[in-house]
Amino acid sequence: MIIVMQSHCSPEQVENVITFLEDRGLNGHLSQGVERTVIGVVGSVDITGSNGVTPELGESLEGLSGVESVLRVSKPYKLASREFHPKDTTVKVPVACVAGGSVTIGGNEVVMMAGPCTVESEQQLFTTAEAVRKEGAVILRGGAFKPSTSPYGFRGLGEAGLKLLDKARKEFGMAVITEVMTPTDVAMVSEYADMLQIGTRNMQNYMLLDEVGRTRKPVVLKRGMSATIEEWLLAAEYVLAQGNPNVILCERGIRTFEKMTRNTMDISAIPLIKRLSHLPIISDPSQGTGSRDLVTPMTLASLAAGTDALLIEVHPNPDVALKDGAQSVTIDQFKTLMPQAHAIAHAIGRKFVTD
Ligand code: PEP
Ligand code: MN
Repeated sequence: MIIVMQSHCSPEQVENVITFLEDRGLNGHLSQGVERTVIGVVGSVDITGSNGVTPELGESLEGLSGVESVLRVSKPYKLASREFHPKDTTVKVPVACVAGGSVTIGGNEVVMMAGPCTVESEQQLFTTAEAVRKEGAVILRGGAFKPSTSPYGFRGLGEAGLKLLDKARKEFGMAVITEVMTPTDVAMVSEYADMLQIGTRNMQNYMLLDEVGRTRKPVVLKRGMSATIEEWLLAAEYVLAQGNPNVILCERGIRTFEKMTRNTMDISAIPLIKRLSHLPIISDPSQGTGSRDLVTPMTLASLAAGTDALLIEVHPNPDVALKDGAQSVTIDQFKTLMPQAHAIAHAIGRKFVTD
C-alpha cells in the first residue's frame, strides 16, 4: 500500500501518518520527490496471519489530514516497485579521482567498474587498478572473500585482500567494491569497501540482506543464478525494508540448458528492471558469459539496453589467474573495449562519468 500525500502537506502531517502506522505495528517508508511525497506501508505477517494492511486501514489513512490518496501496490515487492517511486533512484558513491569527489549510479552517466575477479597479490591488484583507471574505470572490483563452488578452490585472501583494496583505493583514487558473504563480516568489510557486493549464491541469504540493509553503504545485489526477476526484486526489498535505499541490481547471467557459455546473459532484464523498478541496474558480462571473447560484445549490448554501469573482470595475465581467468579480459582487451563502450553510450545519448 502506498500513501500519496497532498502536494503542500506539512512535515507534521507526514510525521502523523508515520506514527499512525507505527502504532499499528507497520512501517512507513518515506519517498520525498520534488513534486510529491509518498509513504510506502510495509509490515510483516503476524502470528494471526493478518499483516494489518487491510482495506479498512486504507480507509482510515484516507481520512488523515494531508493524505491525498491511498493506493494498493499490486506487486509483491513494494519499496522496489516503480509504483512506489516513479523517478529513477540514483546511488552516490564517493570516488576521489573524479571532479566533485563522487559518481552517481542510475543517472545519465555510465560508470565503469573493473578489476580482477579476486585479489591475488599487491602486484596483480595494483597493475590492474592502474591500467583500468587509465582507461576510465573509476570503481575497482576485487574479491577478498570468494564464494567457491569447490571447497578446494581459492577462497580469497580475506581481510588481507581488503587491506590491499584499501591501499589501492588510496593510491589510485578509485572507489572499491567487494563481496561480503556473511552477516558477521558486514561491519568489517564496510570499513574497507565503498560498495558491498552480494553474490549470486547469496541473493536469497535473507540474514545477509537484512544486515546490509542496516548499513547505508551502496549494495550491489547480483541476480541469483536461478532467480526469477520477481525473486530478485523481493531480495532487493529485504535491503530496502531495513532502511538502506542504496540498492543497485546486477544482471550476471542465469542458468539455462545452454552449456557453451557459463551462464546465459539476460540482457532483457535490463530494460525490464527499469520498467518494474526505480533501482539502478548494472551488468556483469564476465560472470554472464564465462568467456573473455564474449565480454566486449555483451558490454556493448548491455549499454545499448540501458545499463547504468558495468562490472568487468580484468587480469594482467588471465592464463595464470587463480580464479575466473577464462572470463577475465586482458589489459589490452580492456583498452580496446573502452572506446567502443563510449561510442555506444554516446549513440544512446549517455556518457561515461570520465567523458
Ligand atoms: C564475482 O563477481 O567474481 C562473482 C563471484 O560473482 P557472482 O556472485 O555473480 O558469481
Ligand atoms: Mn569472478
